[in-house]
Amino acid sequence: MPVAHTLEGPLSVDVLGRQDPELAEILLGELERQSTTLQLIAAENFTSPAVLAALGSPLANKYAEGYPGARHHGGCEIVDVAERIAVERAKALFGADHANVQSHSGSSAVLAAYAALLRPGDTVLAMGLPHGGHLTHGSPANFSGRWFDFVGYGVDPESGLIDHEQVRTLARTHRPKAIVCGSISYPRHIDYAAFREVADEVGAYLIADAAHPIGLVAGGAAPSPVPYADVVCATTHKVLRGPRGGMLLCGSELAERVDRAVFPFTQGGAQMHTIAAKAVAFGEAATPAFTAYAHQVVANARVLAQGLVAEGLAVTTGGTDTHLLTVDPAPLGVDGRTARGRLAAAGMVLDTCALPHPDVRGLRLGTAALTTQGMGEAETARIAVLFATALRDESAGREVREEVRDLTGRFPPYPAH
Ligand SMILES: *Cc1c(COP(=O)(O)O)cnc(C)c1O
Repeated sequence: MPVAHTLEGPLSVDVLGRQDPELAEILLGELERQSTTLQLIAAENFTSPAVLAALGSPLANKYAEGYPGARHHGGCEIVDVAERIAVERAKALFGADHANVQSHSGSSAVLAAYAALLRPGDTVLAMGLPHGGHLTHGSPANFSGRWFDFVGYGVDPESGLIDHEQVRTLARTHRPKAIVCGSISYPRHIDYAAFREVADEVGAYLIADAAHPIGLVAGGAAPSPVPYADVVCATTHKVLRGPRGGMLLCGSELAERVDRAVFPFTQGGAQMHTIAAKAVAFGEAATPAFTAYAHQVVANARVLAQGLVAEGLAVTTGGTDTHLLTVDPAPLGVDGRTARGRLAAAGMVLDTCALPHPDVRGLRLGTAALTTQGMGEAETARIAVLFATALRDESAGREVREEVRDLTGRFPPYPAH
């Protein structure tokens, strides 16, 4: 097929600079910030230039309500192929009967899962927010807490591990219509089989909100929820390293309900540029390089956890199985919020988070982004030392900032060619 139009020239980034220097400067400033500080936010990553190219493409112009072959808009014959490819790649990557790749975000995917399986007022058992549940797991500030009757399970305050006995007891007492497993900060593998057993015992659906670990699942570095959950919700932008967005996986018997819950129930037109970018990311995630990446992410997180323990920080559960870990900086004499500020001044960007001990704010860190940059165990071990140094002594922040600048300079997320 002759290519009449290319993405060179009129579609290059320089156009923005010429037309709107104010915004172009912001894009470059953010690239500079991401390239010269350490991204330790567990939910973030660096997408590939190929993913960014799909996101910044003319597919962004296309209206495409409905599904491939059954759209409300004309002219969808090319974008239909993109969505079919994305769906087929997702199904193959995760071994699922059905995939829906239209959810605009992780939260939209959870909303669709509830819409597919529940009615307003139904009882849902999910991880309590103070223990690591997501907003969509029953926060009163979110649709979930307003429209459903959430019961929260938690982690054992001593071990930091999910209390499966409590899950079973709460399920027997409250007879939920659905049980949600998944968290924003749980550092260990989720025992999906144990949740399935309880769900079967009380006749509940099992929804796995695998927004965080789904990228590790793709790379074979974490157990898959697909064989156990009725519906799996996920994001595509965390460890999975795709565009900002969501997706759903399920068996063929729920496929139609899930699709109708996404469109037309909770969303309008699909974002075809994002769906094309998801297809690119699924393609990348199916490569041996991504498998190696996912395992390196976990190896780095383990080294980071060990290093922080050696520096005297209290690491929840004593370590991690995944890309993320949570720590209480109190043993170093600072609370979570102060710690975040000191680390930011030292060039380390991360979140505060809830810890198993009520009312204590800790820190949540992840290794997905720095591993994409090419950092390995030696660099991660050094980061643990820098981290503790910046926490212990505010006046050390400057020196640490310089070392972070050197380190990130050696591992640019988007190397200039
Ligand atoms: C990140 C996350 C979400 C929400 O994803 P958004 O894209 O921010 O809406 C939902 N659930 C869990 C467990 C998450 O970690």
